Amino acid sequence: MSDKLYYSDGYLRETEATVIAVGDRGIKLDCTVFYPEAGGQPGDRGFFGDFRIVDTVKDDDGEPLHIIDGDKPAVGTKALLSLDWDHRYAYMKAHSAQHLLSAILFRHGIGTVSVHLGESFISIESDADSIDEDVLLSVEDEANEAIRDGRRIEQREMSHEDAEALHMRRSIKVSGPVKVVFIDGLDAVACGGVHVRSTCEIGEIQHFGSEKIRGHVRTMWKCADLSVAYRRGNRRIVSELSALLSAEPDGIVEAAEKLSSENAELRRSVKNMGKKAAFLEYSLRKMSSKPGEATIFMTDLDISFFDEVLGEDDEDVLFVVDGNGRFMFHGAEEGFRTLKAGLSAYSIRGGGRGRFFRGSASGDVHSMIKEAGVLLNG
Ligand SMILES: [Zn+2]
Repeated sequence: MSDKLYYSDGYLRETEATVIAVGDRGIKLDCTVFYPEAGGQPGDRGFFGDFRIVDTVKDDDGEPLHIIDGDKPAVGTKALLSLDWDHRYAYMKAHSAQHLLSAILFRHGIGTVSVHLGESFISIESDADSIDEDVLLSVEDEANEAIRDGRRIEQREMSHEDAEALHMRRSIKVSGPVKVVFIDGLDAVACGGVHVRSTCEIGEIQHFGSEKIRGHVRTMWKCADLSVAYRRGNRRIVSELSALLSAEPDGIVEAAEKLSSENAELRRSVKNMGKKAAFLEYSLRKMSSKPGEATIFMTDLDISFFDEVLGEDDEDVLFVVDGNGRFMFHGAEEGFRTLKAGLSAYSIRGGGRGRFFRGSASGDVHSMIKEAGVLLNG
């Protein structure tokens, strides 16, 4: 059995330890400061001497297994076991923040179904099918007030009966003695995780989104450094948008809406002008073709502009290639097959229906047009 030092002192960053077992995945130690993944809190990582521990999990016997990729130390090896403290401390803060939030949500009549402590945010799946945004803002305010108050957080091991007598917000899922995490005056819940000593260490909490999952509202939060980074990131975005749109921060939305409707108007007018230009271009080319001959030409216009210029009764065969090698063939399917077979050197791809065939081609467009002329007009 390992002596699990993280239970008595979550702030212990290192200890001398000896290997007592070696398996395929990792090692077990006589004592450890590494928390094994459980209850939504990820496993610790760090070093045992020069060996890098990439994760810590609970083995089948419930003991901490320190995962090491590659060579492992032999049984009896003694070395300094040291935590990746930044990683651990960030999750201690996030775990305590989650308890604080679940406790406050509970006071608003909202229960916690499941939690996830992610790399970039905390998510809490509630038992509610809808939560008013005002309630979440109020939960955020109350959480930050509790952080400013610096409420004590402590973990106590007690008998199952004593723990049951506390009538906690969440039922106890283990048998035998129970570890209970208390947030002074606010919360008591059975939890084996590692927590900070005071709510003030969390720094700040921010609600940043909600979504519906399995019929429940899942609320998402940022705490500590991640909350600060999120706040600063948003401020930078607002100031960049403000400069781009030449608007005061509180006028950004209005300026963006105006820009969007101007853009839609411009697109409509470009399309109209494009159709007119396509009509003129096609009419001019057709005039210079001999009657009964295919009109073949290259255009700078978007080929979609020709869609409405060409009618079902238009007998001419048209081959349009724009600068990107895109083409449109207007005519019978037979003609398109002739082109596809005859222009195989240009890797013609595409297809169509009725009298419209679209696709792409590659290679020298000018010589392709010349060859298309021979294929279609003889
Ligand atoms: Zn917990």
